[in-house]
Amino acid sequence: MPDSPLLDLFVIGGGINGTGIARDAAGRGLSCALSEQNDLGQGTSSRSSKMIHGGLRYLEYFEFRLVRKALIEREVLLRNAPHIIWPLRFVLPHAPQDRPAWLLRLGLYIYDHLGGRNVLPPTRALDLHRDQVGAPLQPQYRRGFEYSDCWVDDARLVVLNAMDAAAHGCRIMTRSRVVRAERQDGIWQITVAFASGETAIFRAKALVNAAGPWVSGVAADVAGLPATRRVQLIKGSHIIVRKFWTGDHAYLIQNNDKRVIFAIPFGDDYALIGTTDIPFDAAPDAPEPTEGERTYLLDAANRYFKVQLTATDILDEFAGVRALFDDGQGNPSAVTRDFAFELNQDGPALLNVFGGKVTTYRELSEQAMQHLAPILPHMGPSWTKNAPLPGGDLPGGDPQQFAESLHQAYPWLGPALAHDLTRRYGSQSHMILNGATSLADLGQHFGARFYEAEARYLIQHEWAKSAEDILTRRTKHHLNLTPAQIESFAQWFAATQTA
Ligand SMILES: Cc1cc2nc3c(=O)[nH]c(=O)nc-3n(C[C@H](O)[C@H](O)[C@H](O)COP(=O)(O)OP(=O)(O)OC[C@H]3O[C@@H](n4cnc5c(N)ncnc54)[C@H](O)[C@@H]3O)c2cc1C
Repeated sequence: MPDSPLLDLFVIGGGINGTGIARDAAGRGLSCALSEQNDLGQGTSSRSSKMIHGGLRYLEYFEFRLVRKALIEREVLLRNAPHIIWPLRFVLPHAPQDRPAWLLRLGLYIYDHLGGRNVLPPTRALDLHRDQVGAPLQPQYRRGFEYSDCWVDDARLVVLNAMDAAAHGCRIMTRSRVVRAERQDGIWQITVAFASGETAIFRAKALVNAAGPWVSGVAADVAGLPATRRVQLIKGSHIIVRKFWTGDHAYLIQNNDKRVIFAIPFGDDYALIGTTDIPFDAAPDAPEPTEGERTYLLDAANRYFKVQLTATDILDEFAGVRALFDDGQGNPSAVTRDFAFELNQDGPALLNVFGGKVTTYRELSEQAMQHLAPILPHMGPSWTKNAPLPGGDLPGGDPQQFAESLHQAYPWLGPALAHDLTRRYGSQSHMILNGATSLADLGQHFGARFYEAEARYLIQHEWAKSAEDILTRRTKHHLNLTPAQIESFAQWFAATQTA
């Protein structure tokens, strides 16, 4: 593989922070490349609770600056990616033994007024015995509140940032691991090992280490410059069960250890329940939920809901590892979710990125550029605040209206498939449908609402390199296909790779 020309910037890590930084940099006219050792988002960024939120619970730790920043970002992201981010109402039943009602009311008042809420509806008090949203709750929960946050398809948010980075000229390389980065003659020489067994050397003026939970290892072992800031690795797990309430809203319940647990609609028919906060000291490659975490989440849900869940109700599960910037807090739930940078300029620049949230990735990316501006002074101004992500340029910002117009243009799709495509691809749905005049034109039907045309689009435009990339990250089809259908799709995928 030929060596690259001298780049302005090389980014290690294809999670939300790495792809966000690459997109921002490329849009400012910087030449850049990004390396991701696995699939885009395969690290922490596809394993979040999938909320774009200010973080109501962080108010208890007086994190007003972080909450305000995140609340402002909430509507910025909603505006720029209305196809994969949407408003979500959270029902918060009041449990008198956990937190007093006045404290919740005060917290929600601050949450509503701290800044950035223009289109999302405000908090309202609920009588859970009268309101429909109280129906799945046990009768001892009578009072409650309902407030706004947003849902995000986290894995797709990563891919859309990578697509926009690529559209602005950034080279995105998945299944490519940075094995060494050395300062030589005033620039970085970066050795990348590809899954094919090949290696290549890239040369760049500045290096960004956005390796998430791997950040310390990459700084010390790949770049040979151990970071002076420390991270705490904390694992969080989620379980997926069949949805046991009607309506699009979510629940926030207060566990008896004072932690909060979310139960959030997931796909059409499922609910995501999470999360835990467990100190983690293993390699972050494939974290798994433990028996204890499953029981903890089931018990928390069973304290609140009429339905009594058991381990056999768990249809799927996943765990992710947060790399929290270590602020000296002993309690994992209290460690700040804010981000921090470390810029090493004893030679060509190395910018290490610590912590953060999906919600604040765009702001984090802008601040990363500000750190690099003195080193790369030819970069353009900030631009992402009002720039839709691919597929997010929907007329009136209204996915429902777009889905209806898609259905009108392709009546044979049916409303459900038009809705699905809108929610994954927004205005780019047309690239998948690409002049098709019947369902048969979408090619092989793999089951549920999954057709060959979608899979081919993902291979061609979204770096999908395995069946799993498609089934679990680019889409959530794995939840709706039978094991036999998943196997048959995997065979189809393997055949396309050898064709
Ligand atoms: C359980 C849980 C729930 C969460 N819920 C929310 C939520 O609801 N809302 C929210 O806003 N935030 C949430 N977060 C936080 C959010 O998920 C993280 O802050 C965010 O995903 C971190 O992104 P990242 O890009 O820094 O890391 P990652 O997504 O982990 O990306 C780092 C990437 O670097 C790659 N990499 C590492 N080493 C190399 C190398 N040598 N060469 C090439 N690539 C390399 C890895 O493969 C990885 O893909 C949650 C986190 C957890 C764990």
